Amino acid sequence: MSAFIELKMVEEIWWYMNKVNLFTVILASSGVLAYLLGRLNRALGIIIGGLIFGISFVILFQLEVYIWPYLLLSSVSISAIIHSFYISRFDESNSISKKIKDTEIQNENLNYKLNRNKEEFTALVKSEKEALLMYSAIKLLSEAVNVESVKKYFAKTIKDYFQTDTFAFYVKDSNGGEHMDLFAVGAKSFEFSSWPKVSALLESSHKDISVPFTHQTGNKVFFVPVKYGDEVCGFFTAEFSNSADNDSAISDKMADFCNQIAFAIRRIQLFAQIDSLSRIDGLTGVSRRNVLDEKIEDEIRRSNSFKTTFGFMIADIDHFKNLNDKYGHQFGDFVLKRIGDILKSSVYETDFIGRYGGEEFGIVLPRADFEGVLRKAESIRSAIEREVFQQGLESVRITVSIGIAHFPRDGFSSKEVIGKADKALYCAKDSGRNLVVDAASI
Ligand code: GH3
Ligand code: MG
Ligand code: MG
Repeated sequence: MSAFIELKMVEEIWWYMNKVNLFTVILASSGVLAYLLGRLNRALGIIIGGLIFGISFVILFQLEVYIWPYLLLSSVSISAIIHSFYISRFDESNSISKKIKDTEIQNENLNYKLNRNKEEFTALVKSEKEALLMYSAIKLLSEAVNVESVKKYFAKTIKDYFQTDTFAFYVKDSNGGEHMDLFAVGAKSFEFSSWPKVSALLESSHKDISVPFTHQTGNKVFFVPVKYGDEVCGFFTAEFSNSADNDSAISDKMADFCNQIAFAIRRIQLFAQIDSLSRIDGLTGVSRRNVLDEKIEDEIRRSNSFKTTFGFMIADIDHFKNLNDKYGHQFGDFVLKRIGDILKSSVYETDFIGRYGGEEFGIVLPRADFEGVLRKAESIRSAIEREVFQQGLESVRITVSIGIAHFPRDGFSSKEVIGKADKALYCAKDSGRNLVVDAASI
């Protein structure tokens, strides 16, 4: 009996296998197909999977194949379709979040590049601005005819270039020696805006002027020489309170600036030397006659504008011709030079001395009163009278006569004022020499 049942089951399976084989494959593959298609396109996978399932269902129905093969294959197919549907959704959501992530990374990269470009651009704009400033500074200094007029613009260039208002730029003065003249200075008060302070620091800290160095006084102060070849022709010092750059970057930038403009500074220096030579009398070291005349005209303009006065004196060496004749021209030159020194050390810095003629000196004393000028003239006269000029074993003494006039007391033009001083001088000569005469007393 049981053998019969077993045979029946085998027959049934065989029957099923013969009948269903093709459709089972189709039906089973509907899930796989739906899954594969679903990977490419979800809707297409479901439609085609469903279509195959439907066709197989109809065919199975017509073949009268029911119950468990049908249920088994249906459930495999349906779960494959559902699986495909979910896989596809999962993939999709996966791919969306991946896309979002990719976009975020791309954004980050773009932002990074953008920031770098921005930084590069800002640096470029900055260096372009600096190059233009440098160019205009060099142009300015190279073309300058009137050195005084470029000082202000040069100071502004330094301020813009280095973004500081605490600096001083020196140029070696035209008389040679180690002294430097202040050429440009920042608006903020600065300890090193005077050369004596800088040279005192150089001396006290044993620094070589031709080597850059820094000095700490609260903020760091940088000192950089301006070198033309091996020769130091200028000096640049600046203080930076809040620079983002490090010390060596600042020092290098200052040195680079100095290198670039060194030739223009050298030109200014030579120009100043030529200018000075044309204005200063080579023998006595006081101004030439034409500069003295200009000074008197300037002083008249100033006195008229500010309603002030000035005094003028002419000092003439007595019997100078005799001195030349007796001791020679060389000795005469030596005496003239010494008289120039005595005069320079006898007057205020605001006073002005010029060589008026061969052995005559003119002195302008702005805003001086009558008594004051008289006293000054008297002290000059007596200082020269006391001076002993050594000529070999002989001690030579000389005297001067001085004539004084005042603006506007004695005249409203330079010609009138000089004329009155001259008259007073001749009065002193006539009265016996070694005398001071004020034009008002004639
Ligand atoms: P007085 O007291 O009247 O002024 O007599 P003085 O001899 O000083 O005047 P004078 O005008 O007769 O002579 C001026 C002399 O000054 C004549 C000239 O040789 C001399 N002199 C002018 N310039 C120079 C110069 O640069 N060097 C020298 N050594 N002598 C000069
Ligand atoms: Mg004379
Ligand atoms: Mg004379």
